[in-house]
Amino acid sequence: MWRYIETQAGTVFAGFGFFEIRPPVLEKSKLFQRSIGEHTDIVEKEMYTFADRKGEAITLRPEATASVVRAYIQHKLYADKPVQKFYTIGPMFRRERPQKGRYRQFHQINAEVFGAASPYADAQLIFMLTTFLERLPVTDTTIHINSLGCRECRPSFKEKLFSFFQKHRADLCEDCRRRLERNPLRILDCKGEGCRAAAADAPVMTDFLCRSCHEHFDTVTALLKDRGVLFEVDRRLVRGLDYYTRTTFEVQTGRLGAQNAIAGGGRYDNLVGLLGGPDQPAVGFAVGLERLVELLRQEQKFSGKSGVTLFLAALDEISQRKVFEWMCQLNQRGISAEMSFAAGSLKSQLKQADKLGADFVLMIGENERTAGAVVLRDMATGEQRDIPLAEVVPTVLEILDDTRKR
Ligand code: AMP
Repeated sequence: MWRYIETQAGTVFAGFGFFEIRPPVLEKSKLFQRSIGEHTDIVEKEMYTFADRKGEAITLRPEATASVVRAYIQHKLYADKPVQKFYTIGPMFRRERPQKGRYRQFHQINAEVFGAASPYADAQLIFMLTTFLERLPVTDTTIHINSLGCRECRPSFKEKLFSFFQKHRADLCEDCRRRLERNPLRILDCKGEGCRAAAADAPVMTDFLCRSCHEHFDTVTALLKDRGVLFEVDRRLVRGLDYYTRTTFEVQTGRLGAQNAIAGGGRYDNLVGLLGGPDQPAVGFAVGLERLVELLRQEQKFSGKSGVTLFLAALDEISQRKVFEWMCQLNQRGISAEMSFAAGSLKSQLKQADKLGADFVLMIGENERTAGAVVLRDMATGEQRDIPLAEVVPTVLEILDDTRKR
């Protein structure tokens, strides 16, 4: 299923003009401190950071965007093309409390667009994400979307937020009290009861957006509406990383309990500049692979099951030898064929074939050997046909080819 999801991502993303990039899992700690932000949960509590042999602080990446940006700057990828689109798939590491859907090593599929400030880029990226989810298919999801403003308009919002939470200081958790002065936005994201209650009446960024941020947000939402993408404007969505500007979004589902976020992303127009590159706007997202796997499992919509095309049932040892030969020849030609290594009764082998979701089952025992032909059953139609012993492999290949063409 993992491979299936990754293949779908690769196919969909390639259609939208994205190229794969594979940054390393280890980076200098400073990269994450500067990009994600010193006063975020990830940097304050969750990073796996240690000193290498020369005493340099390095970190197992907690997310991919910072690494992709580092590569983009270091290899001057901005010089190749004005707009660059990348995706990457791989493990991330965060020292969180492990629970269902939340792991210390997990996997993300990331997509990033560099060099496009236009709201069309945001809309296309979100449209690509929904296309990918529909294709899996992962359904019953909601996109929550908000704008976090820009360098021009966010400071006045931060000030308002600061004075608002200052009045509710006593209700805030210890972390949020500490963060109040440096990063009051984080309080909106805190799951603590007191903080949530205090945040309920807090000012919202959308009331502070400057004209161009307003226009940007309105265009993104209008484009999504035009494309039939369903979303909810969520004026409290801030997300746990500091680098976001303007559009931020999260895809949520009601099917995963507490860990309800499948994907998250947004615009980060200042990050490339902040990390020492040219001023290049960017927008991206990350999808959690484990959560997609869980959803597909729950919905049992993963039609490929284990993807077995042919199950070869052998009723005695001599037949087993024969079946082994055919299986190997078919496997060699890329056909997913399986057999039972412990030749049990026909009934138990048919059960096994059914569990594997085999499209065809081939049966051979002493009678078939004497008659010189095996039986091939199409599991979808129940149709059976005899195939001469000497022609099993070419005939099976022909039948599979015909089925594919149909
Ligand atoms: P974030 O980088 O926190 O925005 O996360 C993006 C997506 O990665 C989330 O929506 C989740 O699907 C997934 N994710 C984040 N943290 C974890 C974790 N500890 N375990 C499993 N999946 C995670």
